Amino acid sequence: MYECRLCGFTYHETSANKSFSELGEEYRCPLCGAAKGAFAQASFGGKPVQLPAGHA
Ligand SMILES: [Zn+2]
Repeated sequence: MYECRLCGFTYHETSANKSFSELGEEYRCPLCGAAKGAFAQASFGGKPVQLPAGHA
């Protein structure tokens, strides 16, 4: 899953039935409107991992 580092919104790929990487660059956080780049990959039971800059 991916977590918005600004508001804490989590994008669940399983419930959304679409992987985060498949989302367009125009994707915005539904809660705070942050850009896709503001999301960080988070694993269950682990700390959020920051995506490399420029990673699509
Ligand atoms: Zn957000």
